[in-house]
Amino acid sequence: MFRLINLPLSIMFKIIIFFFFFFSVSVSAAAIGTSKSSYDHHHQHHHDLSYFDSTTTTTIIRPCCFDNPTFAEMIKFRNETRQRQMQMKQQRSVQSRMDCTLWTKACSEQLLKMAKRPENVEWIKSIRRRIHENPELAFEEHETSRLIREELQRMEINFKYPFAKTGIRAMIGTGGPPFVGLRADMDALPIQENVEWKHKSRNAGKMHACGHDAHVAMLMGAAKILKARENHLKGTVVLIFQPAEEAGNGAKRMIQAGAIEDVEAIFGVHVSHLHNTGTIASRPGPLLAGCGFFRATISRKEGLIGIHQRSVDPVLAASAAVISLQGIVSRESNPLDSQVVSVTFFNAGSELDSTPDTVSLGGTFRAFSNTNFYQILARIREVISEQARVFRCSATVDFFENEDRIYPPTVNDEQSYEHAKNAIVDLLGPENFNVMDPLMGSEDFSFYSEVIPSGFFFVGIRNETLGSIVSPHSPNFIIDEDALPVGAATEAAIAERYLYQRNTMSRVSI
Ligand SMILES: [Zn+2]
Ligand SMILES: [Zn+2]
Repeated sequence: MFRLINLPLSIMFKIIIFFFFFFSVSVSAAAIGTSKSSYDHHHQHHHDLSYFDSTTTTTIIRPCCFDNPTFAEMIKFRNETRQRQMQMKQQRSVQSRMDCTLWTKACSEQLLKMAKRPENVEWIKSIRRRIHENPELAFEEHETSRLIREELQRMEINFKYPFAKTGIRAMIGTGGPPFVGLRADMDALPIQENVEWKHKSRNAGKMHACGHDAHVAMLMGAAKILKARENHLKGTVVLIFQPAEEAGNGAKRMIQAGAIEDVEAIFGVHVSHLHNTGTIASRPGPLLAGCGFFRATISRKEGLIGIHQRSVDPVLAASAAVISLQGIVSRESNPLDSQVVSVTFFNAGSELDSTPDTVSLGGTFRAFSNTNFYQILARIREVISEQARVFRCSATVDFFENEDRIYPPTVNDEQSYEHAKNAIVDLLGPENFNVMDPLMGSEDFSFYSEVIPSGFFFVGIRNETLGSIVSPHSPNFIIDEDALPVGAATEAAIAERYLYQRNTMSRVSI
């Protein structure tokens, strides 16, 4: 400092300029350092940014590029440094928005953008097509299950296998609580495909006529998104690939095998030809009916065969039972709460001159609440047995409980529904979410909804131009594959956001 005083003014001016210059460089270097360490940290812990469009890269102009800088150059350099600092600040804030530590619309947009990347769309479609070509019936989904496991392995996603013969439970995230489930069914139907296209079923008499091939593909798409965002996940997403939705109560078997252990809420989707591609539909509360089947055998009691006017007639007893069964819905149920009892077959043989020993009849019944469902079941048994007794016959009624042919109603838990609806509205826009009427169809997803809070949603596949307007279980059933990335992003958003919200508030407020 003292030596400075003795120096000529021009040299002192240069020294002051030098200090000014040095100060600028230090600030700039500090800014670069901060930015770099934050960038490294970001990449170490959030390596998925490569999936997103790259953010603006700032070229660092190093001060060593200047030889004997003039004052004007230094001012220019200082201004540029400030500008760069501003850019870096903005860049960091964009990156932190992508972290989704605060869920914003940008997070939803990133999910959808990722699902719609051409290479991801192609990959999702290829999974759906490979499964479509090789449809497998309930509990025989060996190749389908193998395909899923191979793709999971390729993505380095851990899984456990088998559950219920061919089922898989995979996990993405921290490996710790909270656990949220996403479910897809894998089985096809015993139907001969009538649609002529490149990826038509190669298995005679078997077809993915209910879109379960699409459900697997969508869940795999969600898995890819979630795996890429694994370090954002504030808990664990459990992916459930289940067998035998169409027959055999695969969901029930998966639950019994422990596939949803620790899972506190579960979500599932089904394709729907009633809703346009790009839209999702559902409703709170009862969504799909419970479905059951019955078969009764009415027999004459021993020793009462004889002349017609004295014989006991099982045909008459069975006919009375059919008429009385109609009274269950028309006279015992609330007309505003839809229920169905239908006799669908009646078999008394083909004799013309004698009454048969036995008559068999059967049908189906549906209801939207468990209480109504089991009440109807009890009344069907009672009505058939009592009508048989009136006509001096005996009856047995079978509800196929041992063959797992009872499907309870699918009821959306209100909080789970609200959560998923909000995630979908943010993802696709309010115009693409529809509140729908309940459907009389049924789903074995209902077994999950009986044990944990759940939400079930329909992914629109309707496209008039393409002709994807045919109902499922038809040999002419086709889907609009543009719905696949929409379904994938929807499932990923519901799960990631569930964990995010679960982490920031209690279960009650989700
Ligand atoms: Zn089906
Ligand atoms: Zn189905």
